[in-house]
Amino acid sequence: MSRPQRITVLGATGSIGLSTLDVIARHPLRYEAFALSGFSRLSELQALCLRHRPRYAVVPDQESARHLQAGLQGAGLTTEVLVGEGGLCEVASHPEVDAVMAAIVGAAGLKPTLAAVEAGKRVLLANKEALVMSGALFIQAVRHSGAVLLPIDSEHNAIFQCLPGDYSRGLAQVGVRRILLTASGGPFRETSLDVLHEVSPEQACAHPNWSMGRKISVDSASMMNKGLELIEACWLFDASPSQVEVVIHPQSVIHSLVDYVDGSVLAQLGNPDMRTPIAHALAWPERIDSGVSALDLFRIGRLDFHEPDETRFPCLRLARQAAEAGGSAPAMLNAANEVAVAAFLERRIRFTEIASIIDEVLNRESVLAVETLDAVLLADARARAAAQDWLARHGR
Ligand code: NAD
Ligand code: MG
Repeated sequence: MSRPQRITVLGATGSIGLSTLDVIARHPLRYEAFALSGFSRLSELQALCLRHRPRYAVVPDQESARHLQAGLQGAGLTTEVLVGEGGLCEVASHPEVDAVMAAIVGAAGLKPTLAAVEAGKRVLLANKEALVMSGALFIQAVRHSGAVLLPIDSEHNAIFQCLPGDYSRGLAQVGVRRILLTASGGPFRETSLDVLHEVSPEQACAHPNWSMGRKISVDSASMMNKGLELIEACWLFDASPSQVEVVIHPQSVIHSLVDYVDGSVLAQLGNPDMRTPIAHALAWPERIDSGVSALDLFRIGRLDFHEPDETRFPCLRLARQAAEAGGSAPAMLNAANEVAVAAFLERRIRFTEIASIIDEVLNRESVLAVETLDAVLLADARARAAAQDWLARHGR
């Protein structure tokens, strides 16, 4: 049998990173952790290194690196500790790496994810913000390098599974009418609109079906997550925003659907556990055990569907507008959202003010073409500055 595939896990200490390492550990003959990165929970990163014995670990600064290096050496490990964005890009594009799990949250993952793409790796994309920000450039880089891009977001992974293998010929060519992107509706799907302004970060992070990092949990509560996913779907599957319809499906059992011109609708179902799309993308086109239990349809009993309410979820409308505007608009939407969500988690703004900030930033900043990475980063920086300006005027 050939050697195990070497996997770099960017964001190893996060929710997706840990699920990835769980799947890898189930298949030691197929996969091995080559590099692991962490940003804040560094004692957890050390424990992960002791368990998975990677060739490299990446931390944010020199002091953490010295500390981790000493801890690992003391335990007899030869893991080399690298630092910062340069270290992340190095392990993402390392010639010996077979696949990269891009699971850093937010814009911080953009450059390392692009480094993996440019090096032609098999890229398992969880970091949706990277693709939302840099859309056209990202997809051009995939085409240019021959990287294999596999979606980890459960909806996009489901859509990928429901599309024919030659879908890159064009959705119309393969008979697709629409993509139906499912959303749970999050914890506030039925909360009275009068109290939405007073919900806490703890309530927002208590997702009914999925256990995730705090930023994506807040995005799910505001449905900005679905807005980012709409943009993500447009880039991954070369769809127009009008070809992607959002469907609220509270049980999170159907992970998304593809509607064909002959009236067939294909769906992918499963228990809400990210190890399914992770195992799918790691092994594709083969199938491996993910540790997820079999779906029990009798216990689930019923599947419900509703139309999303954009009065309750203005972020969904803002994201659709940004998708339609194109250019720098998605990067600005994402940046304003990152600043707003961080401020909400720090209790500096109300939940409902997340949408107010993004709305103001998108109205204030003009939409520009983004043909280079510098242009993307400039749009990101300008939107962050405009959002900070809002916080200086209205934040607590
Ligand atoms: P998380 O907060 O649990 O983990 C984030 C990881 O990124 C951690 O390892 C953290 O150390 C690292 N990180 C944070 N800031 C960083 C920085 N500035 N530089 C370098 N590393 C940094 O988040 P998560 O829930 O695992 O989500 C990760 C990504 O996957 C996000 O883009 C999210 O949208 C996407 N995603 C997550 C889920 C899920 O179920 N958790 C589902 C679909 C998509
Ligand atoms: Mg998702």
